[in-house]
Amino acid sequence: MHELSLCSAIADTVREHTAGRRVERVTLQIGYLRQVVPDTLLFCWGFITDGTDLAGSELVVDHIPARISCRACGATTEIDRPILVCGSCDGTDVELISGDEFLVESIDVESVREPTQEIH
Ligand SMILES: [Zn+2]
Repeated sequence: MHELSLCSAIADTVREHTAGRRVERVTLQIGYLRQVVPDTLLFCWGFITDGTDLAGSELVVDHIPARISCRACGATTEIDRPILVCGSCDGTDVELISGDEFLVESIDVESVREPTQEIH
């Protein structure tokens, strides 16, 4: 399943950045053209983190609309179909501005105390 492998990749990224600290929330930026089903993604996140160090963490999806810029007339079009056509002149010589994102925007970890103040 597409979403399951995505969640697995997200979990790897989160672990790389949190080094065992308790994760409360992970915010993702997902572009429209990624065709990710949010409910499925959230379900998979619960499934993949259950019983692990990431159990109970919340996954928040920040949806990025797809926008294209037309090279012919300069218009910017927000598209709601995965078809790259200018909304102003129907031209197809367009450049994708946004909508292809898939990244971890932020990771919130439990703030118990500042790790930098620990002395080993
Ligand atoms: Zn155009």
